[in-house]
Amino acid sequence: MLNVQIKGDTRIYGVIGDPIAHTFSPEIHNSVFKAFGENAVYIPLHVKPENLSEAVKGAAALGFKGLNVTLPHKINIIPHLTSLDSEAALIGAVNTVRFSKGEIKGYNTDIIGVEYTFKTRGLSLKGRTCLLLGAGGAADAVLCALLKAGAKKIYIANRTEEKAQALKERLSPHFNSEITALSLSSAAELKGVDTVLNTTTLGFEGKTDLTPLPKAFFNSNDVEICFDAIYTPWQTRLLKEAEEAGANCINGFDMLIFQGAASEEIWQDRKFDYEFLKSLNSELKEHYKKMKGIKK
Ligand code: NAP
Repeated sequence: MLNVQIKGDTRIYGVIGDPIAHTFSPEIHNSVFKAFGENAVYIPLHVKPENLSEAVKGAAALGFKGLNVTLPHKINIIPHLTSLDSEAALIGAVNTVRFSKGEIKGYNTDIIGVEYTFKTRGLSLKGRTCLLLGAGGAADAVLCALLKAGAKKIYIANRTEEKAQALKERLSPHFNSEITALSLSSAAELKGVDTVLNTTTLGFEGKTDLTPLPKAFFNSNDVEICFDAIYTPWQTRLLKEAEEAGANCINGFDMLIFQGAASEEIWQDRKFDYEFLKSLNSELKEHYKKMKGIKK
């Protein structure tokens, strides 16, 4: 995907995380640079938590134009920034940093990643009754996207119920949707849910036999959409069982691509049209599936 001859004026971007070896972000961003003929390059950078402050200062000093931020730095980077976008401030996590004229500003494009995932498929979340599974970092962004879209009712179910309650209390004052927090084990009893969104790690690599919801849930609810933030494996047990029950199923790959594209929009001061986003997504999806030997 790399298509630039690195010169003295090549702009540098990167992603910081610990671990970082697994990241697909360089493929996303170097593809965008290639598509627009940008004189820019994007690299993975392994930054340990104890070096975060020096890494941010160092990136600014070295003339980096932007960084993506992944686990475990999304929250801890905030004190090292000079300003924060309103949505990043609302959910208290940053995945994109822009360096410009001495300013180090943090954004959260995971929210846009979720919004684009549904928009590019022509799916509206307005008026929906949603079950959000999980209350960690990804749940923050998914909940924010659901609230912005005008979901009618949202149940947040988490193993640690207090975290679901805390998430509800943090975001509900800013929106009109009705939100209920409950334990993950009581989610199976809910009725009237038309949209399920998983942000727990149940079903992820190493836990592929696990699922956050029993299959019977899909018999007692008419679920139209089932989203899982996970994309390794490509189809989690949750998505397989939802698909068997007739739901429209979406894994987390589109969210990954679209949060990256949204970071590019911030860094390059440009707005991509949906046609470009869709073609970027399908090109990268094909590449990723080939790389991983995914058939379906
Ligand atoms: P996180 O902050 O660590 O949250 C993990 C969530 O999983 C919490 O709600 C946690 O519940 C729950 N959980 C963990 N083990 C569990 C178990 N044994 N039983 C029940 N619940 C359990 O992680 P995150 O950043 O939100 O990421 C969550 C998932 O989303 C990961 O699989 C990640 O790969 C995916 N993700 C995808 C994207 C994307 O672009 N597609 C972006 C971000 C994340 P407790 O609160 O009770 O511990």
